[in-house]
Amino acid sequence: MNEPFLLSNLIDLQDIDNEITKLITKKSEGKTVLELKNLEQKYKEVTKAIEISKLAMEDYFSDKKDFDKKLLENENKLSSIEIKLQDTKLNASELQNYNLQKSNVQLVIEDIFKSIDLLNSNNKEGLIEIENFQNQLSSLKPKLVEISKTLQTEWKDIDSKMSQQEQEKSNLISSFPDEIKLLYDELKSQGVEIIAAYKNDTQCGCCGVSLTSSEMDNIQESKFQQCPYCQGILV
Ligand SMILES: [Zn+2]
Repeated sequence: MNEPFLLSNLIDLQDIDNEITKLITKKSEGKTVLELKNLEQKYKEVTKAIEISKLAMEDYFSDKKDFDKKLLENENKLSSIEIKLQDTKLNASELQNYNLQKSNVQLVIEDIFKSIDLLNSNNKEGLIEIENFQNQLSSLKPKLVEISKTLQTEWKDIDSKMSQQEQEKSNLISSFPDEIKLLYDELKSQGVEIIAAYKNDTQCGCCGVSLTSSEMDNIQESKFQQCPYCQGILV
């Protein structure tokens, strides 16, 4: 077993793992993801603000609904009268009757419009507030779509890089003896930050602690060349 070669492979494996971790982090915490989350948060806040404003203007919306309903009814009435008036066979009294009906309905419609105007002007501030919120929503929508698209593209790119790294990792690991694989997984699950590093004369390359020459000798003689302080492997 060519141990130094295998131990240096651990550094390569660690690099690949770090790269994979970086990609995973980028996927969940990258600039675009954060931007999208911010926009979504803003969208929720504005939507909520609209709900609250509408609730505060409950009476307005209920009155407005009644007026709109009355308006529609009378506009339908008006158009049916106008259809009747197009009949060329109407006699003078029918004609007079329908024209009278028509002008009555027109007056009612005018009144409804006046009432709606008054209602709107009495609730002007609240309506402007809601309109502003709705404008904010409209300008957020295209941004949300755009960022989502960008994010999808970025994730696709990250996924392809990730699968490349996973492939490299599995190729590399397939050349490892089982005990090295186990050691690596064990150190990783123990949360050892730097699992393998090149040694220098006086320090652990993994944790940076100063090592005496006898400690260094012990490390060199041990099976997996691990630092007694951090368990990292010195290659
Ligand atoms: Zn160490």
